[in-house]
Amino acid sequence: MTTLRKLTNAALDLLFPPKCAACGREGAYLCDTCEPTLTRLERPYCDLCAAPASAGICSWCKAASPAYNGIRAPYLHKGTMRDMIQNLKYKNIRA
Ligand SMILES: [Zn+2]
Ligand SMILES: [Zn+2]
Repeated sequence: MTTLRKLTNAALDLLFPPKCAACGREGAYLCDTCEPTLTRLERPYCDLCAAPASAGICSWCKAASPAYNGIRAPYLHKGTMRDMIQNLKYKNIRA
């Protein structure tokens, strides 16, 4: 990372301190309170879209044959995770 980039990031941290994307508490993009409320995706899940599936790929992927051949999200998209994603989208938080 260049010095300019470091400075820019430091300035951004000062202007926009990291805030929990779920509850808005300052200090981290995901605070200790919210992190355990996320639902980790555990197998079995679809090898292609990571939706819950008994084995291999889900019926949707079997039918649709999506153009990608594997994505993985570490958390299930509901509850805290959905709140976070909406906050990220609408508040323009990138990190
Ligand atoms: Zn939080
Ligand atoms: Zn699938």
